[in-house]
Amino acid sequence: MSDDRARAAAASSPASPDSAPDQWADGSWEATARVVDPRGDDRERQVEAALRPRRLSDFPGQTRVRDQLGLVLEAARRRGTPPDHVLLSGPPGLGKTTLAMIIAAELDQPIRVTSGPAIQHAGDLASILSSLAEGEVLFLDEIHRMSRAAEEMLYLAMEDFRVDIVVGKGPGATAIPLELPPFTVVGATTRSGMLPAPLRDRFGFTGHLDFYATDDLVTILRRSARLLDVAAEEPGIIEIARRSRGTPRIANRLLRRVRDWAQIHGQHVVDLDAARAALALFDVDNRGLDRLDRGVLEALCRRFGGGPVGVSNLAVVVGEEVETVETVAEPFLVREGLMVRTPRGRAATALAWEHLGLTPPRPSAAYEPGMLPLDDGSRLGG
Ligand code: ADP
Repeated sequence: MSDDRARAAAASSPASPDSAPDQWADGSWEATARVVDPRGDDRERQVEAALRPRRLSDFPGQTRVRDQLGLVLEAARRRGTPPDHVLLSGPPGLGKTTLAMIIAAELDQPIRVTSGPAIQHAGDLASILSSLAEGEVLFLDEIHRMSRAAEEMLYLAMEDFRVDIVVGKGPGATAIPLELPPFTVVGATTRSGMLPAPLRDRFGFTGHLDFYATDDLVTILRRSARLLDVAAEEPGIIEIARRSRGTPRIANRLLRRVRDWAQIHGQHVVDLDAARAALALFDVDNRGLDRLDRGVLEALCRRFGGGPVGVSNLAVVVGEEVETVETVAEPFLVREGLMVRTPRGRAATALAWEHLGLTPPRPSAAYEPGMLPLDDGSRLGG
């Protein structure tokens, strides 16, 4: 562990050598399976854990979701019962896991962390559910990727606090109902539209997380710099925030890369010059687009004449999974007004051509934003 990481962990983690061995550095509890984030490795997760806010009041941005959630949790606390199940949706890195941990902390309950892909069989879920304590929070990341059988078991458990354990096989198999103590499911998804309606309906509260405003990212970065013991000047922080695609995970990651750059160049402070030089080195352009975003736009304009084109074709050209293009690049490009979703597929806007320094082959090749709202569940032109 680097000095910074050690410091960050020490600064923000209550974990001590005596704490339970199954407690995470950020005070959360043993993970049945680790949260799977395709874009963050183990080491990054450790740093992230140290940077997570612990309480709703320390959580900048997402004011609407935060206020609504605050109300739901406070009301449940006063009633002395677990709150409704909570679904958090939105692109990766916006704070879904962080909020799940905050929910548990605000309720003063332990949290069990697992993810859809880790639950391949209904039996995997049954064993988790049957070991939950009363009031415990069960965090299910990437809930849209759970198996069908597990999904069905989850409906029942969420509604009736009961699971049917199947004993034996074939005609002799019997289902033994098992009562569960009341608990709270917090589901997270980048694709709420892919959740089957019966599962979506079991959530009493749904919060959709949006990209952050630069001001909120500045607040987040100031705090992260403090925890990582990085001296940073305001213009440097603002530059990083501006280019972080509205995403705290990226903001924190870029801060660390700029810190590295400053250190290697004998600078003790992260300033504007360090931020600009490091971000150029790491291929983050002045609108915050990274290699994938630009790859998608370039493919759209250079290979497909501006579109419309199906997302699967785009994904093939940039060499990425369709899901990555749809959940990571596309929401940001649409929000920035660089791409639109039309009934016939994805298309580049005039701004996209301009950003790439290209001229559209004909005026009609450049679409205007706002043609269709982004709905992460639809599969237009897919
Ligand atoms: P998600 O689960 O949506 O992919 P996470 O909750 O894992 O995102 O957040 C990724 C990183 O961004 C974490 O290190 C977390 O500390 C940071 N982060 C996310 N939202 C916020 C926020 N509102 N304030 C401070 N840090 C945040």
